[in-house]
Amino acid sequence: MPSLPYIALDDISFSYTETQPPVHAIKGVTLAIDQGEFVAIIGPSGSGKSTLLNIIGTLEAPTGGVYRLGGQEVAALRDRDLSRLRATQIGFVFQNFNLIDHLSVFENVKLGLRFRHDGLVNTRERVIAAMDKVGIAHRADHLPRHLSGGQQQRCAIARAIVGNPALVLADEPTGNLDSKSANQIINILEDLNRHGTTVIIVTHAMGQADRASRIVEMHDGAVHLSSRRLP
Ligand code: ADP
Ligand code: MG
Repeated sequence: MPSLPYIALDDISFSYTETQPPVHAIKGVTLAIDQGEFVAIIGPSGSGKSTLLNIIGTLEAPTGGVYRLGGQEVAALRDRDLSRLRATQIGFVFQNFNLIDHLSVFENVKLGLRFRHDGLVNTRERVIAAMDKVGIAHRADHLPRHLSGGQQQRCAIARAIVGNPALVLADEPTGNLDSKSANQIINILEDLNRHGTTVIIVTHAMGQADRASRIVEMHDGAVHLSSRRLP
């Protein structure tokens, strides 16, 4: 029997129901992503990119369809198992960095280990290794507001990867950055992918999408085009 893809979205839909009328943000998306892929999700504003990424990251539960991550049906997991899966296997990177203002770079990165049961072992070494990987270790004691945007995002990536997740999800991670910093961020994500991490990035920049191994184009809540580039 062929093995299941790492990420398997089967006829997924999602509606925001706090609003009247509800917003049908995702309409029947079927998509499979294998371990080790580097996927770029593109599409116009409002097409459902962030919602889809949040579903993949288990931050939102789909209102319809079946989502399997690593062969596990996510909806069947108990809350505790879902939290553990999210904390141990998925790293999130956001456009606005989402760093804690009053914590140093070191403490922010360390937060990436807070839900890890094994987080107490070699915490310091792990944090330093993650900071080193993104070139921010020399700023370990600084507060986020004393860093450039690019440095803040590198700090956020260190926080996302300190627990060594199999999957990194980045929602327009370079949306607030100049092109040089943006390029550094994409280089880091590319390097992570080269070492085996599955990376999914939402981006507006075609130059970035072209560096992914695959482009998924969304339009009005549906996948319009999913291309697999030849190796
Ligand atoms: P994208 O990331 O491609 O810009 P989103 O996934 O953020 O798109 O949004 C998809 C659709 O869902 C849009 O129509 C947006 O207005 C709507 N939407 C997003 N978040 C919410 C929310 N919290 N409540 C209601 N509607 C929302
Ligand atoms: Mg978005």
